[in-house]
Amino acid sequence: MNISLYIYFGLGAIIVILFILLTIKRPKKSTPNNSNIAENLRDEKQKSSIILNAIEDGVILIDKEGTIQLFNPGAEKITGWSVEDARNLSYQSIIKLVNDKNEPYEPENDPIARIFKNPVDTIRDNNAFLVTKNSKQIPVSMSISPLLDKNKQITGAVAIIRDVTEERIEEKQRTEFISTASHEMRTPVAAIEGYLALALNDKVSTVDTRARQYLEKAHDSTQHLGKLFQDLLTSAKAEDGRLTSHPLITELGDYLEQLCNDLRFAADKKGLALEFNIGSSQNIDATQTSAGQKVIKPLYYVFVDQDRMREVITNLFDNAVKYTEQGKITIGLTGDQHVAQIYIKDTGVGIPSEDIPHLFQKFYRVDNSATRTIGGTGLGLYICRKIVELYQGRIWVESDTGKGSTFFINLPRISSEAATIQKRQEAANININPITSLTTPMIQ
Ligand code: ADP
Repeated sequence: MNISLYIYFGLGAIIVILFILLTIKRPKKSTPNNSNIAENLRDEKQKSSIILNAIEDGVILIDKEGTIQLFNPGAEKITGWSVEDARNLSYQSIIKLVNDKNEPYEPENDPIARIFKNPVDTIRDNNAFLVTKNSKQIPVSMSISPLLDKNKQITGAVAIIRDVTEERIEEKQRTEFISTASHEMRTPVAAIEGYLALALNDKVSTVDTRARQYLEKAHDSTQHLGKLFQDLLTSAKAEDGRLTSHPLITELGDYLEQLCNDLRFAADKKGLALEFNIGSSQNIDATQTSAGQKVIKPLYYVFVDQDRMREVITNLFDNAVKYTEQGKITIGLTGDQHVAQIYIKDTGVGIPSEDIPHLFQKFYRVDNSATRTIGGTGLGLYICRKIVELYQGRIWVESDTGKGSTFFINLPRISSEAATIQKRQEAANININPITSLTTPMIQ
């Protein structure tokens, strides 16, 4: 074969391959026509409106001027306003919120106003009551999400409102049951504890060593049960606002010093040091010592029930002792012009960061070797939070695992002048000014 034949064959092969490639059917790219798009959009719109109409929760779309643009039938049912009436009205005339004391929400607490002011994240509010068109108040749970454009500017907000009347009724029934049950059970448990204490008392009974060990264990468990019932009762009362409280003007420095002396024994028993510190402040007062010298000592006045605050500090101190093997516990007092801050610091096991957000919830206990061996109810910190909130305060914790924890309590501070006037009134048993005139707003 000469070279020209090779060339002919080669060219022929290339032509055949090209022919095959060109004739193979490629999958057609779907190129939607205009009528398809319109149909799809209609479908999507229909689906959205079916969902919005079927949802029981109220869904309200508010534009950045605060005008209602969308109002589903769920919102109509909850608020009592018809879709036609509500649309194009300012949200403030439809979503009227009050707190549990029937006081209108201040703009700084209004979750919708807050989202427009600071549109970072969804805001939830589970404490509001909504005033309906017929002036009925219904408990609601709300979540407000911001709508942001690509420059992260707010263009509107979506409010989801749920009527939680049923849930609140059930919650109330549960709380009442717990309250009654724990109240009824406390009495027999106290009697058992009393008899066990008598059986363990050498002057009253004679028991052998083995029986003593069993009785001691039974006594400890009964004490634990008694504490559980007591805590259950207190938390049930805190939930439905029946926690008794008789607040008085209290100077925290003297109060805590006295309390520390009472608590010292428990720390000593475990070989832990107890320190009491009063921090400095710009707002200080001069006081006379018994020797007549002038001592500069900051006075931190607050308006609290001293027995309730004792419960809080004792609980935090007991925890510090329970969860600390060695080192010291410091109870401290500091603050500024507006706030009195108490802290309880320990050198104990610490609290893992993932547990910290849940720590003040009911029954929450950190699951580690320390808590598995140390008894507790998981109600103590919940009760502490409820009590501190009674006085418009705040409680939180900072902790380093393995190094220790510090619990902080911020309370609204009362100036020395206001405290003196108030104390005079208390002494003269005159009608005391409402608390709100003395205290600053809830500390955040
Ligand atoms: P408990 O009765 O279990 O102590 P609390 O509500 O008082 O209940 O505390 C909840 C949990 O918080 C405890 O179980 C413990 O895990 C953790 N905790 C509280 N105080 C401290 C502390 N000072 N150090 C370490 N962990 C603590």
